[in-house]
Amino acid sequence: MPYIIAEPCVDVKDKACIEECPVDCIYEGGRMLYIHPDECVDCGACEPVCPVEAIFYEDDTPDQWSEYITANVDFFDELGSPGGATKLGKIDYDPPLIKELPPMASE
Ligand code: SF4
Ligand code: SF4
Repeated sequence: MPYIIAEPCVDVKDKACIEECPVDCIYEGGRMLYIHPDECVDCGACEPVCPVEAIFYEDDTPDQWSEYITANVDFFDELGSPGGATKLGKIDYDPPLIKELPPMASE
């Protein structure tokens, strides 16, 4: 039962969470970041550092963002389990749910 990243990260991507992850399982997509559901060790270190509160323990994900649980899985459909995000860098892909969102205003 991993942590997931939801809509507040879209078009923000400040990457504060990446620096906290001990297993390098937070991957950068085109418009947001995604947590690998099999590589995440549920340590919770990323969750409090997110400035927009986009990270949730899967079971605690607000209902309006429940589709993001699937989106974090779908992002890895073709990537599989790379075993580390740093070596891949930015992956220019987002699942349709995210790709089709209108631009998010930054504050
Ligand atoms: S800290 Fe939050 S907003 Fe920043 S990249 Fe991570 S999930 Fe996205
Ligand atoms: S809960 Fe821990 S292992 Fe999972 S993404 Fe966050 S920092 Fe990485």
